[in-house]
Amino acid sequence: MHDHRKLGRELGLFDSDPLIGAGLPYWLPDGAVLRHTLEEYIRGVERQAGYRHVYSPVLGKRELYEISGHWSHYSEDMFPPMDLGGEQVVLRPSLCPHHALIYRSRAHSYRELPLRIAELGGMYRAELSGVLGGLTRVRAIQLNDAHIFCTLDQAVDEARAALELIRLAYRALGIRPARYRLSLPGEGGKYVAAPEMWQRAGALLTEVLDRSGLAYESVAGEAAFYGPKIDVQVADSAGRESTLSTVQIDFHQPERFDLHYIGPDSARHRVVMVHRSILGSMERAVAHLIEQHGGAFPAWLAPTQLVVLPISEAELPQAAELVRRCGAAGLRAELSGPELGSLGARVRAARLVPYQAVIGAREAAADQVALRLRDGRRLPARPAAEVLARVGALVDAHRAELWDTDDTDDAA
Ligand SMILES: [Zn+2]
Repeated sequence: MHDHRKLGRELGLFDSDPLIGAGLPYWLPDGAVLRHTLEEYIRGVERQAGYRHVYSPVLGKRELYEISGHWSHYSEDMFPPMDLGGEQVVLRPSLCPHHALIYRSRAHSYRELPLRIAELGGMYRAELSGVLGGLTRVRAIQLNDAHIFCTLDQAVDEARAALELIRLAYRALGIRPARYRLSLPGEGGKYVAAPEMWQRAGALLTEVLDRSGLAYESVAGEAAFYGPKIDVQVADSAGRESTLSTVQIDFHQPERFDLHYIGPDSARHRVVMVHRSILGSMERAVAHLIEQHGGAFPAWLAPTQLVVLPISEAELPQAAELVRRCGAAGLRAELSGPELGSLGARVRAARLVPYQAVIGAREAAADQVALRLRDGRRLPARPAAEVLARVGALVDAHRAELWDTDDTDDAA
């Protein structure tokens, strides 16, 4: 594994500046392409799974966090409030309170449930500067968040479906979880005092894990202040574990915000809130992807997906035309011409690019390309249109493989 801080800078993905501040990295163009692609992917996955997306502001009044409990249980991690015309506003430490208010803004019948509200939104954490570095400990966080408002009977199925989405996303991204953790409260006043609530939520999450057939460990002291959670742990280059994805079943916030639905009996019933994040924060997800893949990202995610390599200047027009056709087909392609060195040197320089399309005199005359894959495989020359269609299909399907197995056979 690689250190994402070093590699991220070498690959031109992100950087930081002391004038912006510690823990406040900025994203360079290739990093922004990666993040944008990741965000679009996860929104697509969520849309297909029945989530509706919202936007909500990164600020809220202090009272909002007093109601949610952040103010009394989580204030050490929050930025100090800002005084504004006699009221105090706070950079939000989580999206949950905003989504609770969005739910509360309309009356809901049981027929509308489960109601799945998703947002890729900003939140802030007052990390001490001593622990900052790279993308893993940051003060400004973009979270892939969602809250499912449902009945008690629906909560286990919704949490299980969220775990299934996590598995789907990990397969597309080539991420292997280090372990699943059931995070329970520990000693001390950090946690909301409601023993019955902790017990009920813990039992439901245990059922979720057992029915999903996942091996897991229970760990005390890692819960959120308002409830237990399932954490999907990943390991960094030094073997240190961190939490990427989470699933929670929450009875606390619905009480605090008095969230309810109208049941078939026309009476008000308390709704249950399932909090879940498939990819966690964009910062931590990208840090992990850099370390896991050493910059050789799955083709659908790679900042440059295809590099076109004309053997000599004579093939430059055909090479430039192929780059243009890639762009029109929605693929990210670059030209690497002979002025940049020998073919071997250019192939080495593009070693992280999934597809390398070589065009010699013969290929140029026949509108063909000889494709090399990042893993060293070489395919025989074939029509450029066919190559673009095949690569485009693999990218659209978010496939982790670079090519179909069938085709590598006839390359031998
Ligand atoms: Zn939440």
